[in-house]
Amino acid sequence: MKRVLIDPRRCTNCRVCRVETECTMKAVFRELPEDRPWVDFYRCNGCLECKAWCPDHAIEELTYPCNGQPRMGW
Ligand code: SF4
Ligand code: SF4
Repeated sequence: MKRVLIDPRRCTNCRVCRVETECTMKAVFRELPEDRPWVDFYRCNGCLECKAWCPDHAIEELTYPCNGQPRMGW
């Protein structure tokens, strides 16, 4: 299973977040307009298209290997 998360250390909180506006699964949310966006794992299908949309490379792949332990990237 593959999902993504937005690394808060890299995300610069763009006024218009392309990850939020272009995700076809509508998996990206902000609690308030000024907050950093976050990804809802239940909506994200792991397509990874958003990796190309974020100018600050804040999108991290999250994989769940067979032992169920999450790890970042590859
Ligand atoms: S485009 Fe990238 S850096 Fe900008 S708000 Fe979205 S996730 Fe953060
Ligand atoms: S991986 Fe695909 S579904 Fe998940 S947040 Fe990015 S664009 Fe949306």
